[in-house]
Amino acid sequence: MSCLFVQVVLDTPLDFCFDYRYPAELASVQSPQIGQLVVVPFGRRTEVGLIVNVKEDTDVEEDKLKDVITILSDMPPLNAEWLALCRFAAGYYQRPLGEVALPSIPKKIRTNGGKALERAWKALEKQDMPASGKSPVRPQLHPAQQQAVDAIVHSDGFSPYVLYGVTGSGKTEIYLHSIEAFLRRKTDAQVLVMVPEINLTPQLEKSVRERFPQECIVTLHSRLTETERLRNWLSILTGRARIILGTRMAVLAPASRLCLIVVDEEHDPSYKQQEGLRYSARDLAVWRARQLDIPVVLGSATPSLESWQHMLTGHYTRLELKERAVADAVLPLIRLVDISRQQLNGGLSDDLLQAMRQRLEKGEQSLLFLNRRGYAPVMMCEACGWISACDRCSAYMVYHKAHRLLRCHHCGCERTLPRVCPDCGNADLQALGHGTQRIEETLSGSFPDARILRIDADSTSRKGSLQLALDTIHRGDADIIVGTQMIAKGHDFRNLTLVGVINPDTSLFSQDYRASERLFSLLIQVAGRAGRTMHKPGGNASEVLIQTRYPAHPLYQAALSHRYEQYVSELLAERKNAGLPPFGYQALLTAEARSIDKALAFLSEAAESIPERYGVIINEPIPMAMMRVANMERAQLLIESASRQALQRMLKLWLPVLRGKKSTVHWQIEVDPMTI
Ligand code: ADP
Ligand code: ZN
Ligand code: ZN
Repeated sequence: MSCLFVQVVLDTPLDFCFDYRYPAELASVQSPQIGQLVVVPFGRRTEVGLIVNVKEDTDVEEDKLKDVITILSDMPPLNAEWLALCRFAAGYYQRPLGEVALPSIPKKIRTNGGKALERAWKALEKQDMPASGKSPVRPQLHPAQQQAVDAIVHSDGFSPYVLYGVTGSGKTEIYLHSIEAFLRRKTDAQVLVMVPEINLTPQLEKSVRERFPQECIVTLHSRLTETERLRNWLSILTGRARIILGTRMAVLAPASRLCLIVVDEEHDPSYKQQEGLRYSARDLAVWRARQLDIPVVLGSATPSLESWQHMLTGHYTRLELKERAVADAVLPLIRLVDISRQQLNGGLSDDLLQAMRQRLEKGEQSLLFLNRRGYAPVMMCEACGWISACDRCSAYMVYHKAHRLLRCHHCGCERTLPRVCPDCGNADLQALGHGTQRIEETLSGSFPDARILRIDADSTSRKGSLQLALDTIHRGDADIIVGTQMIAKGHDFRNLTLVGVINPDTSLFSQDYRASERLFSLLIQVAGRAGRTMHKPGGNASEVLIQTRYPAHPLYQAALSHRYEQYVSELLAERKNAGLPPFGYQALLTAEARSIDKALAFLSEAAESIPERYGVIINEPIPMAMMRVANMERAQLLIESASRQALQRMLKLWLPVLRGKKSTVHWQIEVDPMTI
């Protein structure tokens, strides 16, 4: 019998496959297959690797060739579509295949191999299939919802949809009905539902579980324990799990019988992974749907410009919900409060305080949104001008009053607030600006009898505390909620009739061209928390107050009338003129070194080493907007092209050159960067 060899990828930055001999003893027990996991010697260690090819000869010299140690035989091979997805992601985002494929496999398998598997199989066997509970209630769909569901369930092969529905228009109901239709059609069908952040959108998970009490539903997200992750992943791999609910990582789940993919809040920036393989889970979801020839639904009240443009060109089909689903629930009235010429009370305008008082009188809830946690974003000495800058970052340290701490939100470093100014000894340090803690303090001064609840990363650091806070709101045990973007998304608060937005202006003048798009969708999202139910007789109409110094800004003017569509057309026209995405394509090389000069020099050299410049624009290397973080200085080089293919071709030629460079500078390449 001829000897067998397998080509294996491992989780290493080295961009190639490794050949191993597949010993006859193993072959007599189990012949190797593409997609199986093997344990192999690698350097001085053993590693779990993935077979990507089986062959009868090898170019590796006899004495350099090592044997496969074992094969993880009690695991079915990962399917070919999954491997193709990993290959595509690796190629497109310029990472080694092993660094894409292996990290998506539960750590327990990669470190503990067969033993972990054995235990997990046992646990899975013992786990009962969910008992069929009481029959769930399905609301009668509105005509627009029914139309959308009809389109989705009667799709012919690959069909991407943009489900453009205002907040509260009942997008979830469309997902649920579509899922039901697909699961009914085939007994082994699986569906994938993706959400930006599972902890921030517990309602969707709850709705899915209530609607499908008899189905096996599993979640995939970063807060699972390794044991849970392994179990859920195996359940997906074997086809037992029929509904997969997860965050961006779920797009790499090894489901082999997918027949529908839903991406909820498709515009959300958290679909873009910010480290390692910097992929866009939304884009991969669409790729996967095309590969599997199935429909994919991209839902949002503020679709991304990318999806919008695809809709305009007819690549994606538009499904629209113009009205809120609950009878009489109307979109809130948006008001701009010009704060450029008025005295604020601890950060709050008279209009806002007045509006909150009206809510308190009627027993309704108010929500104040500001994207700054802590007490004050910076402390200052008025005598000499000292400010609380972080020594390690180009950022200020934020004052956290409860612990009398200055804390840098970028590198995490902390110190006690000095009693007197460190430079001049002045005892009177001033808190500048407002964070959630300070607003909370102002509120308890102004409304001593109100029940005030703060929700931000500091108040919810303990496991389960966010859920407790959300329950408090739903029970009606909070009158005023102050929070960061943690509470902007998805929540269905029933008794909320006022939303105040504090300090959104900073995003208007950001050098990041996507900042205004993000601000707009955030405003619409947070506004969408108000007025979600029937207006009570005698109650207040639901309102959103935006405190701004620039009420005439076109972004606010568009937000006033919920005119997303018009605003998007304007943004798209600007982007087209400037050749920016979605009309141009970008890749960003970032470098990090002890000194900015070194980082910049690395990038200049990298730019010079580009073998082929056809069809691409190479910009000058520049320091990053946040230049220093944790004592490392960072610079970036932006590459642009009007053609995705030209950019990809150039990157394919260039990356091997970059990988070959000997340098102490740490670098990263990001394709389709979200922030530049
Ligand atoms: P979205 O995700 O579009 O913001 P949701 O799916 O949260 O909106 O729906 C908003 C509210 O409308 C929910 O309370 C939901 O139960 C309700 N709803 C949805 N569809 C219907 C319907 N056809 N009839 C009555 N209520 C509905
Ligand atoms: Zn001073
Ligand atoms: Zn810092």
